[in-house]
Amino acid sequence: MSFLPNILFAIILFLGIGFFVKNVKKLIRNIKLGQDIDRTDNSSARWKNMAMIALGQSKMVKRPVAGFLHILVYVGFVIINIEVLEIIIDGLFGTHRVFSVLGGVYNFLIGSFEILALLVVVAVVTFWIRRNIIKIQRFWKPEMKGWPKNDANYILYFEVVLMSLFLLMNAADFHLQHVAGGFGHYHEAGSFPVSQIIAPIFDGMDNSAVFMIERAAWWLHICGILVFLNYLYYSKHLHILLAFPNTYFANLNPYGQFDNLESVTNEVKMMMDPNADPFAAPADPDAVPAKFGASDVQDLNWVQLLNAYTCTECGRCTSSCPANLTGKKLSPRKIMMDTRDRLEEVGKNIDANGGKFVDDGKSLLNDYITPEELWACTTCNACVEECPVNISPLSIIVEMRRYLVMEQSAAPMELNNMMTNIENNGAPWPYSQMDRLNWKNE
Ligand code: SF4
Ligand code: SF4
Repeated sequence: MSFLPNILFAIILFLGIGFFVKNVKKLIRNIKLGQDIDRTDNSSARWKNMAMIALGQSKMVKRPVAGFLHILVYVGFVIINIEVLEIIIDGLFGTHRVFSVLGGVYNFLIGSFEILALLVVVAVVTFWIRRNIIKIQRFWKPEMKGWPKNDANYILYFEVVLMSLFLLMNAADFHLQHVAGGFGHYHEAGSFPVSQIIAPIFDGMDNSAVFMIERAAWWLHICGILVFLNYLYYSKHLHILLAFPNTYFANLNPYGQFDNLESVTNEVKMMMDPNADPFAAPADPDAVPAKFGASDVQDLNWVQLLNAYTCTECGRCTSSCPANLTGKKLSPRKIMMDTRDRLEEVGKNIDANGGKFVDDGKSLLNDYITPEELWACTTCNACVEECPVNISPLSIIVEMRRYLVMEQSAAPMELNNMMTNIENNGAPWPYSQMDRLNWKNE
């Protein structure tokens, strides 16, 4: 009978982690729906990017207030995980504060967790005020209505509740540790700089009632952490995990360097080569011609799909986008959110159809992202520069434009004119080839 809590804890832990693993598998399957791209080169630069940007938060601090608050929450989240490990061991084996054998080190750890927990609460409340009271503009763009807005707030409430439970648990523990003559297995362990301030609320309370409060806070805290873990998949907070691979696999080329379509490059090279024989290697008659550009998520590469899952919806990209700032319909954040939503829709379609995608008559282009948005982009790369986790909304925009131009001949008239001029005159202007450099004499 005394093992019942341990067994119950093991079951809850198994279910919590099992459900998370199931969703992670789905996530990986969805990301792999993308086209292959090799991002294994230059591993030292990639590790450096990851260390500086994901671990070191170097791009976050470009906006110092949000950056500083984010670092508090981030450090709190990472360090408090040591305490979660202790809770798991205690839960499984019925021990109490198993790491307390570390003595002074343990005191230091618990003390620092408590201070961090308090700072996290302060940071989270400030975040909430910035979002909901001060109403910082980038959090109130059209794409931030409904679930994205609620999701951002839910996680803030979640963190306040988790940190409060942690401090309440410690305060009750502190009280029981100092009961004259001792109480149960609550021996003196840990340093409680914050929760000892809360502990006097238990003065005069029956010790068994304080024990119940400590146990309730302990259970709710660990169950809350498991719920939080499983909530991540459905939330923009997946970036907590994906920021690391995302920064590792980010594009290392200079911003202005676009990738060429290999099939087109080869064809152009052949046209330029006077010795090439276009019939030397006859094309495979059964080969399916490669699609130019992207109209749906399966046409994007897997890094672009990883980007979509990593997007934190912070809106830094949109708040720097000249197209958005001048009132155009384009929002790079929305491009990422739409890509994720469509990818999720495709994933659910695959799940519902026994592992195969069945055409649903929809696509990322038109059903989620309109040509108007795509053509509003100036390809300035401001969104890429701003993104704190190295996402490139521009690469998705360019792929979809490629599809519009090369598969649908649906470029705006001005662009068609310009491309015709380049083809005929070797310059964007409607002058003869002979006159195309006249401008330099002006
Ligand atoms: S590259 Fe396009 S989407 Fe990105 S900031 Fe510039 S105009 Fe906006
Ligand atoms: S793409 Fe980057 S900058 Fe834009 S909302 Fe997502 S995380 Fe923020």
